[in-house]
Amino acid sequence: MAHYEISVIPGDGIGPEVVQAARAVLDQGMESFGYSLGYTDYDFSADLYRRTGRKITEEDMDEIGKTDAVLFGAMGLPDVRDPEGLELGAQVEMRAHYKLFASLRPARLFAGVNSAVKAKNVDMLVIRETSEGMFAGLHDEHAPSNNEATDRMTITRATSEKLFDVAFEQARARKKRGTPGRVTLLHKSNALRSNVLLEKVFDEVAARHSDIESNKFYIDAGAMYMVTDPGRFDVIVSENIFGDITSEIAAGLIGGLGLAPSADVSAQHGVFQPSHGSAPDIAGAGVANPIAMILSAAMMLDWLGQKNGDGQLIAAARGINAAVEQVLASGPQPTDLGGTASAQEVTEAVLDAVRSIAHVPAAVKA
Ligand code: NAD
Ligand code: MN
Repeated sequence: MAHYEISVIPGDGIGPEVVQAARAVLDQGMESFGYSLGYTDYDFSADLYRRTGRKITEEDMDEIGKTDAVLFGAMGLPDVRDPEGLELGAQVEMRAHYKLFASLRPARLFAGVNSAVKAKNVDMLVIRETSEGMFAGLHDEHAPSNNEATDRMTITRATSEKLFDVAFEQARARKKRGTPGRVTLLHKSNALRSNVLLEKVFDEVAARHSDIESNKFYIDAGAMYMVTDPGRFDVIVSENIFGDITSEIAAGLIGGLGLAPSADVSAQHGVFQPSHGSAPDIAGAGVANPIAMILSAAMMLDWLGQKNGDGQLIAAARGINAAVEQVLASGPQPTDLGGTASAQEVTEAVLDAVRSIAHVPAAVKA
């Protein structure tokens, strides 16, 4: 049985609560599906910074980067700021350090979940670029000023080509399980020079993947279509800030952040975390929805499985997804979805479902 080493960063607020739930599901998965994980915990958090001034360093990230994957809860507290006034976020630093350029954010409307929109067929994957775009100037030299502040949107051909290749590969993999096989670029080439290049590179890469459909919308119109007609989207790809916002529109369509997982990846490294933050407003209350984190853990297994050609892990990821599907359909429902179940009750139900799914003979599963 192959063994994988996982670095775990629970973080702040509800981060540790949802990580605990995901760990329980991964542990159950080891027993039920037969894979082996070892964990090392790292206490990087805004809370640690507030108490000790300690932040994640390049050396820390080098050490963490030697493990097979990172499982990340959520980091940041609105009142903990660095001297410049920005929040702490190891997730942002890891993106830069590991050159993670693609954040995969699937949004699927599960049976049993009430959506804010009428559409019932929401099954999309938003891919947000995370190394440049509107965040390109984060480390630019600048003189802090009270009267003027500037950010910079930069698009490069090299990153865009890699990003769009990932988008078309993802669409191809999804198509195998019945999605249309379509990549949509959301952009603003009518007004932003950077986006003229983005669109041009998209057209070139799309031509190389002619088995997969492609289309494009301006981000503003596309944002409206996501709400009025979400069924037209399969894989959506965009630059950093448009992708950030777009992925949360998608999360809203499928019942909210409590159901929205994510994976920040390059070919070598992967950081798996829910799309939500530390939710200080509900931290400690025991009601955080653990499902986004559990689905992120399943994405980790799938990514490790694909990367290492390990079918056991891919099957386990599928099993955990099926378990979540079962719990959302039949309850208990967490409070953010209108139910009354605690995080613990939801987690227990997922564990039960994993156990029962793993016991179905393989022939029935297929
Ligand atoms: P948030 O995602 O933490 O919370 C937004 C709203 O969604 C809140 O009402 C919260 O209670 C609810 N919510 C989020 N996750 C939930 C869950 N699992 N179950 C039930 N309800 C849930 O966003 P925010 O309030 O804008 O930010 C809070 C802190 O988190 C800030 O310090 C922010 O910087 C940080 N943050 C971190 C990350 C990250 O670690 N990747 C991402 C976003 C925000
Ligand atoms: Mn966001």
